[in-house]
Amino acid sequence: MEAKNLTVARIKSLIERGEASAVEICQAYLQNLERLNPTIKAYLHTSPERALELAARIDRLKREGTPLPSLAALPMAIKDNILIKGLRSTCGSKILENFVALYNATVIEKLEAAGAVFLGKANLDEFAMGSSTENSAFFATRNPHALDYVPGGSSGGSAAAVASQMAVAALGSDTGGSIRQPASFCGVVGLKPTYSRVSRYGLVAFGSSLDQIGPIAATVKDTAQILRVIAGKDPHDATSLAVAVPDYLEGIEKPVKDLKIGLPREYFRAGLSEVVKNKIQAGLRLLETLGCQMVEIELPHTDYAIATYYVIAMAEASSNLARFDGVRYGLRVRGYSNLSGMYRETRDAGFGAEVKRRIVLGTFVLSSGYYDAYYLKAQKVRTLIKQDFEKAFEKVDVIISPTSPTPPFRIGEKSNDPLAMYLSDIFTITANLVGIPGISVPCGTTPEGLPVGMQILGKHFDEPRLLHLAHIFEQAGGFTL
Ligand code: GLN
Repeated sequence: MEAKNLTVARIKSLIERGEASAVEICQAYLQNLERLNPTIKAYLHTSPERALELAARIDRLKREGTPLPSLAALPMAIKDNILIKGLRSTCGSKILENFVALYNATVIEKLEAAGAVFLGKANLDEFAMGSSTENSAFFATRNPHALDYVPGGSSGGSAAAVASQMAVAALGSDTGGSIRQPASFCGVVGLKPTYSRVSRYGLVAFGSSLDQIGPIAATVKDTAQILRVIAGKDPHDATSLAVAVPDYLEGIEKPVKDLKIGLPREYFRAGLSEVVKNKIQAGLRLLETLGCQMVEIELPHTDYAIATYYVIAMAEASSNLARFDGVRYGLRVRGYSNLSGMYRETRDAGFGAEVKRRIVLGTFVLSSGYYDAYYLKAQKVRTLIKQDFEKAFEKVDVIISPTSPTPPFRIGEKSNDPLAMYLSDIFTITANLVGIPGISVPCGTTPEGLPVGMQILGKHFDEPRLLHLAHIFEQAGGFTL
């Protein structure tokens, strides 16, 4: 058995037919990890003993003749802002460097019950703030396709682990694109579910009205199977909704007929790199030959999306990060003279530059006298953006765009220019503002071999349609255009 390009279904059949044990599969991926992680740096820390224990449990089920659960022995990387009991959860931050999680996130409970095996915790931009994984307080992750390039972010470790065979699948979190953009940069599939589809209990909060956990995998079917396991109402998360979870594989092979695809005029104009545009256009032509119909649509408030997102995300972050004060969690510096000195020195030593920038700006836009001018106005524009999408979805079934306006950029290229970094989120942030689902699928590579991703957006809870279209695109060769 070669630990390469395995899938959920293939792993299950290897074990069921006795061709490999769960422990052997786990060991093989741990070997990949040992070999590749020193260069790619996708994992912050690993948990081989625990992974092997989880795998041994699957082998016991097999010996007893018990049917295997749906994700049996699936080797996974988990973004380090999602809690796994007994393991460190650093969020890529010095302030939580030695913080050990006291409970499991709901998604972890569900994945464990479904047989998944967690190999370790994946690198991220500190508290998921960034688009390149360079904001991690520990080290930057490299793009497995070209080591001088970023893997995207903030779930860059998760996407790079899957792309380099250091995991078969991963979990990321997406507040403004952090699952879809790294999936696009690393040439894998990444899905941000509808807001409220997946429980956020045990995800360290960044922007609570925007955050969602979602799967990253090499194939659409694997993505669908993981979503099925993690989706659903959770009594621990009041924002999760009791909407039935469908079998996302049902009907996934059926041809797509007469599907109306909306192409936002505002997304295909200046600022979009030529090479990305050409790839996406090739992808769209392929979808046309499969029976889809292209319709030009308008999203008139697109120009305000970046500003709106960053006001809201920073405001929510400043409030969520207030809990890291040296009293209850993580780091507390020594040698302070009084309580406010302890807060100040701990937060100064514990947070990196980007996190501080956001706390300061977020506190500013919420402060009395400025609240109406910034935060309240951003909330109003958020409603206008939502209405743009509602109108568009009266005419079309899904909306397609590039995931990112450029291919992966070089390490260091944008790290000193926060605005340039923020602008690269233009196509992904709206799905979070509106709460709709979005998937990024590979759509070929640039002449230099850098992956390009295509984003498909759908109506609330329309994940079945996104996964269906994405799967048909994959089967028709769209990933390698
Ligand atoms: N790049 C965006 C930001 O920096 C999105 C991050 C995310 O989705 N977690 O806020």
